[in-house]
Amino acid sequence: MKIYKDFDFSKISYIRIGHTGKLIVAENMDDLSQIKMMEETKILGNCSKVLFSKKRYKKNFYKLGGDFLKIEKLNDETIMVGAGVKFTTFINFMINENLTGFEELVGIPGTIGGMIKMNAGAFGKNISNNLVSLETLDGKKDKSEIYFSYRETNIESVITFATFRFVKGKKSRIMKNIEKFIKLRKRNQPQDAKTLGSTFKNPTSYQPAWKLIDDVGLRGFCVNDICVSAKHTNFIINRGKGSGTDFLKLVSIIKKKVYEEKKIELELEVEIL
Ligand SMILES: Cc1cc2nc3c(=O)[nH]c(=O)nc-3n(C[C@H](O)[C@H](O)[C@H](O)COP(=O)(O)OP(=O)(O)OC[C@H]3O[C@@H](n4cnc5c(N)ncnc54)[C@H](O)[C@@H]3O)c2cc1C
Repeated sequence: MKIYKDFDFSKISYIRIGHTGKLIVAENMDDLSQIKMMEETKILGNCSKVLFSKKRYKKNFYKLGGDFLKIEKLNDETIMVGAGVKFTTFINFMINENLTGFEELVGIPGTIGGMIKMNAGAFGKNISNNLVSLETLDGKKDKSEIYFSYRETNIESVITFATFRFVKGKKSRIMKNIEKFIKLRKRNQPQDAKTLGSTFKNPTSYQPAWKLIDDVGLRGFCVNDICVSAKHTNFIINRGKGSGTDFLKLVSIIKKKVYEEKKIELELEVEIL
């Protein structure tokens, strides 16, 4: 187990907002069992969906390292992957193995654990689609035992490993698909921005959150350095010195305005810690 006493959480937060505190890295199951005994803990993935909104926390934050960063072939099409593995690493593994099935998700900056917990998805594909089973701190779970919905699951335990099944494809076709989805992302989303991706869930597919926010005139609107992206109005970006308080202020302005003008209650997709 590695313990970093004065870890700067803003360094790993995708929106570059965070406090300084203790970060524990669990490298194996023994470490996780010890962490389980601690009071108030919170597992972190790649911090691309969580906002550290406070200056101080009582809880212990921890991440997965060591054993949880392994990828293992169970057979040609069935892969077991550690929950701490970054999706970018996993997609590169898939390309090398000529496995197809996750091209739509390329560009999502999460870990396997965080993406399964959020049921991350894009362009009609969700990470749960190819899932076979999960290992968690509370034991093995088949996919059929887990409830998956839009950016939501009922997983309460810590995911340690996931098993996926894919089919073999042609590398040239896989690469073509990946390029297509990267292009679409570049066209619609701000690039290299400090952000947590979509801030709100889409109330319905024909009333996407970005449209509602755009309709009420908040494109580009800022609270200090925290702004509604001019390129994708459901993305909130940090121009530099934004704080958790600014982020929450902007969220409440957006929710209020959308409710007043559209009578729709926007629900956060970003998790506020
Ligand atoms: C530029 C950008 C683009 C994005 N595009 C998309 C997109 O297209 N589609 C999409 O769905 N999302 C998108 N996101 C959001 C984000 O990447 C996903 O929600 C991703 O699933 C979060 O994974 P993470 O590892 O960063 O999790 P974190 O943000 O670290 O954590 C998210 C939640 O998962 C929990 N968690 C993390 N690891 C585990 C584990 N091992 N076991 C149990 N729970 C765990 C955390 O406790 C927390 O509740 C985007 C974000 C950015 C910044």
